[in-house]
Amino acid sequence: MPIATTNPTTGQVLKSFEAMSAEQLDAAIERADLAYQRLRDTTIDQRGRWLTAAADLLEAERDETARLMTSEMGKTYAAAKAEVTKCATACRFYATKAAEFLADEPADAGAVKATRAFIRYQPIGPVLAVMPWNFPLWQVMRFAAPALMAGNTGLLKHASNVPQTALLLEDLFRRAGFPEGAFTTLLAGSDAVDPVLSDPRVRAATLTGSEGAGRSIAQIAGRELKKTVLELGGSDPFVVMPSADLDRAAEVATTARCQNNGQSCIAAKRFIVHTDVFDAFAERFAANMSALRVGDPMDDTTDVGPLATERGRDEVHAQVRDAVDQGATVLCGGEPPARDGWWYPPTVVTDLRPEMRMWSEEVFGPVAGLFRVSSYDEAIEVANGTTFGLGSNAWTRDPREQERFATDLDAGNVFINGMTTSFPELPFGGVRNSGYGRELSALGMREFCNVKTVWVGEGAASAGAGAHAE
Ligand code: NAP
Repeated sequence: MPIATTNPTTGQVLKSFEAMSAEQLDAAIERADLAYQRLRDTTIDQRGRWLTAAADLLEAERDETARLMTSEMGKTYAAAKAEVTKCATACRFYATKAAEFLADEPADAGAVKATRAFIRYQPIGPVLAVMPWNFPLWQVMRFAAPALMAGNTGLLKHASNVPQTALLLEDLFRRAGFPEGAFTTLLAGSDAVDPVLSDPRVRAATLTGSEGAGRSIAQIAGRELKKTVLELGGSDPFVVMPSADLDRAAEVATTARCQNNGQSCIAAKRFIVHTDVFDAFAERFAANMSALRVGDPMDDTTDVGPLATERGRDEVHAQVRDAVDQGATVLCGGEPPARDGWWYPPTVVTDLRPEMRMWSEEVFGPVAGLFRVSSYDEAIEVANGTTFGLGSNAWTRDPREQERFATDLDAGNVFINGMTTSFPELPFGGVRNSGYGRELSALGMREFCNVKTVWVGEGAASAGAGAHAE
C-alpha cells in the first residue's frame, strides 16, 4: 500500500511519502532506546507536565488537526474535532492519574513471610504501535498517553493512508517537551513490522487493526517472545427486547451503526430484535437510516461522509451483494452512488442466513444486519454466534434481563440501554478473535509495565529471598 494521503471525498492523491529505509528504521529504534534510558529516569510529575502540554497543544490546534484527519480518511469534521478533544481529555486523565496507577502496591507481608512485600510498576522500553486509520489520532493516543507516562517510548507504524496525522503526532509530543526519540513515527509499510519487532531493542507491540494483521504480529511476537496487546475487529450485537424504549433504541442504533461513517470496531453491526417489537423497530430504524445526510464531510450538516478507501467501499458492497444474491432483503440503501470518491449509503439488510457473509463477518461501513429472534436465549445465541467478542449492546427495561445480559454476552464490554463507547476511566478490549489485553484505565497503563514483585526479608532471616526463589 503506498504511503500517501488520498482524499476519500474526491479520490485525489494529496501527498505521497517515501518509505523509510532499513538504516532510517534502525536509527529511529536507536533513538527510541536512548530516549527510554532518559525517560525512565524522569519523574511522573515531569512526564505529566509534558503530557499536559500535549493536551494544551491539541486543544489549541483542534480545528486544523481535525481538517487534516478529514482530508486523510473522510470522517466528518465535527467527528474529527470531537476526536481531538477526546485525545486531550485522555492526556489530562493519564497526566493526573499516573502517580496513583504506578504507585507501589503493598502486599500481605505476613502471608509471604516478609518484613515488607509490594508490587512496583516499571517501564519496559520501546514499544511498537501498529495503528489503523479509522480514529487516526485517538487510537494512537490511547496507547501513547499511558505508555509515555509510564516511562516507555513509542514507535508508531501508522496505517499507510494517514501519514500526515502520523507525523503530526510525533511533532506534537516533541513540541510538548518529551525527549527526542520518545515518540517516533516510522513511515513504513506493514513489511517493516517484522524487522522492527524482531529488533532486541523493541520490547513489545500493540496493534489495533484487522484479525489478519493480529495473527501476523502475534506470530512474530511469539517467535521473538515479546508481549503484545491486540485490539482487533468486531461485529457487535445490539439486542432489542420487548420492554425497550423503541424510539430511543432506534435513534441510538442509527448513531451506533453510522458513527465514523460506519467504520468503527465497536460500531453496532448486528441488530438482533425480539419478534414482538421487530416490525416496529425495523420501521423506525430504516426510516432513521434513510434520513441520514450523506455528503461532504466538511459540511456541518453531513451525518455520513465517504468511506476511507476504495477497497473498503468495494468490500462493503461485495458483502451486501453476497447477501442479496442469496435472498436477503434490503430495507434501505444498498447501492453506491456513481460519483467521485468512495461513498456508501446507510443500508439495512434483513432475512440474513448463516451462509451469507454478513451473518458472521465484520462489515466496515454504514450497513446494518437486522435479525429476528423469538426469545432471550435465541438472542444470546445469535449475539454470541460469531468468532468476535469486542463490544455488545442490549436494550431492555427489565432489571433481571439486564443482569443476565451483563453475564451472558461474550464480549469485552456490555452496554445496557446505550451504545458502546470508550472512556479513559474504563478498560477497553475484546475476547476471542477480537483480541486480548486491555487499553485505557489503570489496566491499559500496566500492560506495558514490568509488574515487579519486591520481597524484603529481615537481614539473613530463615524466610530470606533464597528460601522462596523459584
Ligand atoms: P488493517 O489492515 O489490519 O491495518 C491496521 C494496521 O496494521 C495498519 O497500520 C496496517 O498497515 C497494519 N497491517 C496490516 N496488515 C499487516 C500485517 N500483515 N502485518 C503487520 N501489519 C499489518 O486494518 P484496517 O482495515 O486498516 O482497520 C480496520 C480494522 O481495525 C477493523 O477490523 C476494525 O474493527 C479494527 N479496529 C479495531 C479496534 C479495536 O480497538 N479493537 C479499533 C479500530 C479498528 P498498512 O496500512 O501499511 O497496511
